[in-house]
Amino acid sequence: MSPISDDSASSKKPHWGPRTLAVHAGVEADPITGAVGPSIQTAVTFASRYGDIGFSAAGTVGDKVPFAYAREGHPNAQQLERRLSALEGGADAVAFASGIGAISGLLLMLLNPGDHLVVSDITYAGTAEFVRGFLRQKGVKVTLADMTDLADVRAAITPRTKVIYAESPCNPVLKIVDIAALTEIARASHASLVVDSTFASPALCQPLQLGADFVVHPLTKYCCGHGDAVGGAVIGRDASQMKHLRNEIGTHLGAMLSPFNAWLILRGLETLAIRMEAYSKSALIVAQFLESQSAVTSVRYPGLASHPQYELACRQMLLPSGMIAFTVRDMHGFGRTLESHLKVFLYAASLGLSRSLILHCDTADLQRTTFQLDAEHLRRYREFAGEGFFRLSIGLEDPQDLCRDLDAALRASHPTRGE
Ligand code: PLP
Repeated sequence: MSPISDDSASSKKPHWGPRTLAVHAGVEADPITGAVGPSIQTAVTFASRYGDIGFSAAGTVGDKVPFAYAREGHPNAQQLERRLSALEGGADAVAFASGIGAISGLLLMLLNPGDHLVVSDITYAGTAEFVRGFLRQKGVKVTLADMTDLADVRAAITPRTKVIYAESPCNPVLKIVDIAALTEIARASHASLVVDSTFASPALCQPLQLGADFVVHPLTKYCCGHGDAVGGAVIGRDASQMKHLRNEIGTHLGAMLSPFNAWLILRGLETLAIRMEAYSKSALIVAQFLESQSAVTSVRYPGLASHPQYELACRQMLLPSGMIAFTVRDMHGFGRTLESHLKVFLYAASLGLSRSLILHCDTADLQRTTFQLDAEHLRRYREFAGEGFFRLSIGLEDPQDLCRDLDAALRASHPTRGE
């Protein structure tokens, strides 16, 4: 009934490398037309036989029929899920309409009122808002911990802790979390470890292989790679938990990824590994350029030996990826010159596109609207971020053009740079 082979490529061809899996996993040539690429299946409902599905198809998908109703699953999402699962080495993946859809869906599955969540003090702003606002209002106890400080994490654990939630490298200040060490803490406290691995992508780090229970990706970013589709996914090591996530959470939240977005993201994954190599290579050149500038006061990039967790980054990530954070002497002066002096970088939120982006992250603004850090964690955040910094998402342009762009803005904003 399904045009898709029953075996995911990961189980059928266990020895394929990640680049081969990124191109082949989840999709076979069409058995009828021979087309080598997947087609887009927009059908909302799927025919079956008497007795196979009831009036409500929730929970039946995957048992008797591959698909029943597109909100619960459809061929394009399944192809994408199989490919992601193969890349991360998971038991299964569930696609969602956005990264936040994936994160909120997973946390709603794992946490009930009265349960306790230990969450990284620094996360993507939308995650921070969901956890510190929505989950707390629903009765979940939430404690913030610096995930780079294992003693801080241990101190936050209580007998009710059900989930430890980390990001690595974290958005926006690029701290790196020791996933294997966090796994040990999670195991000892019978909690699930969830890792948002957006900045690394499945090409540079596989948290499940380091012991995490779940990895979440906003597919919107590096996985898609072209900035033209919003999507998200959870990949997990336990098939029955993933089935529960699909049937009980995905179905009821109604946050299914659209077939077109699934198709776009599946295509993006095919070039993920070579794009991540290109981003990492260019970002290192840009980071080294910034570090050599007297107007630049600090640079944080996991590929620089000056990064506080450089050794861990080398151990845990295949390459340092394409995100950089930096501060300059005259932050506002630099900010004001961007529009007139940057010809390649665009000033915009988001990351992981072909185009390079720059964004100012203001500490007071983040603290007021989302982070709500206590004094000690705010002090730790300020150690790097001060009152704010600029975040770069390096794209696929020539790195020399990116350096020239930044140089022009630095010259205009810091006329006496000390050279
Ligand atoms: N996690 C991280 C680290 C992010 O940077 C983002 C978005 O920027 C998200 C999650 C949320 O993804 P989405 O925008 O697809 O909901």
